[in-house]
Amino acid sequence: MTENTTALVTGANKGIGYEIAAALAQRGMTVLLGSRDRARGEQAAARLRAAGCDVRPVVLDVTDPATIEAAAARLSRLDVLVNNAGISGPVGEPPSATPAATVREVLETNVIGVILVTNAMLPLLRRSPAGRIVNVSSGVGSLAHHTDPGHYMSGLPGSATYPVSKTALNQLTVQYAKELRKDGILINAAAPGACATDFTKGLPFTITRTAAEGAAVIVELATLGPDGPTGGFFDDDGAVPW
Ligand code: NDP
Repeated sequence: MTENTTALVTGANKGIGYEIAAALAQRGMTVLLGSRDRARGEQAAARLRAAGCDVRPVVLDVTDPATIEAAAARLSRLDVLVNNAGISGPVGEPPSATPAATVREVLETNVIGVILVTNAMLPLLRRSPAGRIVNVSSGVGSLAHHTDPGHYMSGLPGSATYPVSKTALNQLTVQYAKELRKDGILINAAAPGACATDFTKGLPFTITRTAAEGAAVIVELATLGPDGPTGGFFDDDGAVPW
């Protein structure tokens, strides 16, 4: 591993994560492209290397501590961690009809996975001169949106999975920010906006925003200067209400 500024992006073999990896590499970083599937990760990293980027695949399933520990052990340096991997869970299933196992599965990936990866990478991030963590959240995680009668989200059907997971992720961001302030590590949550990826395929409306457009706010938060915010929640337009 070279001593370049190094970033790890989870779930980067496709979608928004892939675009985050590409954008950070284009800024000159060495990027570890996390993928739970070895072949998918290698293919994605090869595409970016062919475009001249310093991108290396890393097998990392955020629900599998063994892969997380192995990834951390491989690294000698880490400056930027982007917790991007996420799953949506069932769409349109009301809280009263959602099996506990389904709720657990979504929280395991979108919340517990972030804790496991972050904690494994913190010793490296603490040694960085400018540690940055970005948690890829969603506007759907905003309690303010869901409880504002003037916001379209207040009219969405209830769900016990995805929105709950992203609200928890936002809270985690605030709690980690408290702990990491003394280390100079800035940690923020980002809402990429609805983007056309496999994640949103099959939804009953057309999404024109690209994954690269969604990645932009995440890349901005991953490359904050020392006076940048910490413990915040941002989209393209600035702070998102909690
Ligand atoms: P995609 O479904 O296109 O990509 C998700 C990525 O996460 C894939 O690489 C997937 O791997 C990976 N992943 C899933 N589970 C795990 C796991 N256990 N361990 C490691 N990697 C895993 O989704 P998007 O790119 O659209 O979403 C990325 C993030 O952005 C998510 O956190 C999502 O919640 C968030 N987001 C997306 C929005 C959108 O409109 N697309 C809007 C708001 C937020 P694999 O290929 O193996 O399945």
